[in-house]
Amino acid sequence: MPAWTGGCLCGAVRFRIDADPLSGVACHCRDCRHVSGGAEADFVVVPAAAFTKLSGAETVYRSTADSGAAIWRAFCPVCGAPLFSGSESSPDLLFVMAGSFDDPAAFQRRLHIWMRSAPPWHLVEPDVPAFPGEHGSV
Ligand SMILES: [Zn+2]
Ligand SMILES: [Zn+2]
Repeated sequence: MPAWTGGCLCGAVRFRIDADPLSGVACHCRDCRHVSGGAEADFVVVPAAAFTKLSGAETVYRSTADSGAAIWRAFCPVCGAPLFSGSESSPDLLFVMAGSFDDPAAFQRRLHIWMRSAPPWHLVEPDVPAFPGEHGSV
């Protein structure tokens, strides 16, 4: 497969991923609404070992998720764009924001999570599985 490339709005932070995504997730939790600045956060799950940063220096914000997991989220300190995140309990996985990819068609939603936190204006495709909380496969 071709490598996935992406980065932030201003172009300071750039990265490459050399693996097929393990999943494409839309998370509707409160924290993801903050991070996206609007609706849910769409991200791909990739093996952390397949991720290579090409340039830039991200800033990391740490918090505790609704699930109780210790989460870290990286964003560009220059333009503020959210980039990627991870969980201390799953150090082998990386969650990369779908909006950061150079090819916008590369992302496919395979599941929705934390639907019980979603406001009524979040729309969900009828053919994509939706879970009230987190889902074990992500
Ligand atoms: Zn930037
Ligand atoms: Zn979330």
